[in-house]
Amino acid sequence: MRYIRFVWLNLLLVVSAIIISGCSLRTPAKSTTKIQAVATTNFYGELEQAVLKDHGQVYSIIDSANVDPHEYDLTIKPARKIEDSDLVLSNGVGYDTWVTKVTSKRHITVGEDIAHISPGANEHLWYRPDLMKKVTLKLAAEFSQIQPQHRAAFYANAKAYNQQLSQLTDLLATIKRHNQGGKVAVSEPVFDYALATMGYKVINQHFAQAIEEGTDPSYDDIAQLQADIRHHRIAFFVENTQSDAPVINQLVKLCHQYHVPVVQVTETMPAGRNYLSWMKDEFMQVRNIQKGID
Ligand SMILES: [Zn+2]
Repeated sequence: MRYIRFVWLNLLLVVSAIIISGCSLRTPAKSTTKIQAVATTNFYGELEQAVLKDHGQVYSIIDSANVDPHEYDLTIKPARKIEDSDLVLSNGVGYDTWVTKVTSKRHITVGEDIAHISPGANEHLWYRPDLMKKVTLKLAAEFSQIQPQHRAAFYANAKAYNQQLSQLTDLLATIKRHNQGGKVAVSEPVFDYALATMGYKVINQHFAQAIEEGTDPSYDDIAQLQADIRHHRIAFFVENTQSDAPVINQLVKLCHQYHVPVVQVTETMPAGRNYLSWMKDEFMQVRNIQKGID
């Protein structure tokens, strides 16, 4: 009897210890709370983490190059992350509207809120490194409202990251200086903002729009593009390698046959890369074509 009572007492102590530690885990001191940020894609998550550093945790909903943001739909885990977050960053302009299915405390869109553009505009805004600099500064302002005590750190982090991004804006400026009104063709409008900044004119927008929307490009559009390749009317062809439309593969083959350079780009960030190295690689392909070393 005595022995049994001793066991019960021990058990009671263990249980209450678990309850006490459990409670203390659930209510951490305010000063150590990390900002919980969500991004619709990992390249936007990278910007959030760069500004927050150790003052926050980032959850990127699309964190794989194998998931197409155009066709994605929200599942339970990311929906909970959005609900529990302090801030959500999305691309906007119709690209990742699935994020608005769940109410969030704060939601910033790169398109509407920062670039001041509306749905219908080209959605691939991350191909504007100049705009990404504005995104980090906007994030610094938003995070400063959530945790004013870390304001100086957020702005310093944003500026440090933007300094790295200057490698990209400088490279784009160099490419533009060496481009004399070149014309190009693209498989999809993914790279168009970068091309515009470089001063290149896309001559097959109608064709590219069809591929982006997953419909068949018209016979006339294909024939025109084939002629443009054969007659070297384009400086290069931009291929989104994440698309596997047979018509694109045939056009790329034709480019190789007629020695028209092909620039390979992706819609989402390839595994093991960061935003800077991803963009730099793609921009350098254009620079190398200009130098004649493709
Ligand atoms: Zn796209």
